[in-house]
Amino acid sequence: MRATIMYAAGDVRIEDVPDAAIEEPTDAVVRVTRACICGSDLWPYASMQRSEAGQSMGHEAIGVVEDVGSQVATLEKGDVVVMPFAFSDGTCAYCHEGLPTACVHVGFFGNNGMNGAQAEALRVPLADGTLYPLPVGEDDALMPSLLTLSDVMGTGHHAAVTAKVAPGKRAAVVGDGAVGMCAVIAAKRLGAEQIIVMGRHPDRIALAREFGATDVVSERGEEAVERVRELTGGEGAHSVLECVGHNTAVETAIGIARPGGAVGRVGVPQHTAIPGSLPAFFGNITIGGGPAPVRAYLDELLPDVLEGRIDPGRVFDHTVGLDGVPEGYRAMADRDSLKVMVTP
Ligand SMILES: [Zn+2]
Repeated sequence: MRATIMYAAGDVRIEDVPDAAIEEPTDAVVRVTRACICGSDLWPYASMQRSEAGQSMGHEAIGVVEDVGSQVATLEKGDVVVMPFAFSDGTCAYCHEGLPTACVHVGFFGNNGMNGAQAEALRVPLADGTLYPLPVGEDDALMPSLLTLSDVMGTGHHAAVTAKVAPGKRAAVVGDGAVGMCAVIAAKRLGAEQIIVMGRHPDRIALAREFGATDVVSERGEEAVERVRELTGGEGAHSVLECVGHNTAVETAIGIARPGGAVGRVGVPQHTAIPGSLPAFFGNITIGGGPAPVRAYLDELLPDVLEGRIDPGRVFDHTVGLDGVPEGYRAMADRDSLKVMVTP
């Protein structure tokens, strides 16, 4: 079968690899019908040290169950499933508490030698706890939006939840990538009265406005902080959804938070320390967030997609086959594309 392997920064290849197969009795093999390239894939694309073995890439997928191990109880061949970016057992205390990304058996697809979803198929560990069956056919028109439930829509929702978005609150979204766009959807869905999006790319701003953004701030740094304060009666935003991960973005996020407010971080941190310690302390600002428990959010978000109340699939502006994946990485890295869908 064919799969996407990254060997170094900027070096992504489509290669023949051994077919995905059951290794543990709790595994499933999924034939990938839709996958995508994530903003977080762009971090190794920019900085990965050369590796002889390479890393199989991709952690977002919808597919069809092709095979199940002897201990898989809830899935069978032919099921259409969404695959969250992390696998989890579904049985430990953290899974029961709705935090499967802290599962005692957690692992992340397309990372640390684990196989990835930008491929014709992949092995899914702990299939009962990980995969979520969908009540639709594999070519359903809602596929782009359903695919976002494997990561970006759940991640945008997690930013909103950890930033404590609630009816009547003022929210601000830092980042105009696909997660930022989904964070706008999530903030609106949870009832934010004002939604400020920080960005300057015209197409993305237009999409954010359609998703519910009420204000746009295109300045950066200190000027951006000033502009948000002007837009919020001098106070700042109750809820700041940080969807980038760079220290400058985190610093801006803390800078625009209202005293007593919260910052929800879902951008993968690119630094070991959080900046803005003093303003966060003196503003009594809660800093939350982390890898989104997207598996736990599916029960809540799936009906909104199936019934057409949200349409996060609009973040996809390019679709490629596997051969187009290396070009897809380039397009997203150069910001020519917001998010690339892959149809292996
Ligand atoms: Zn668990």
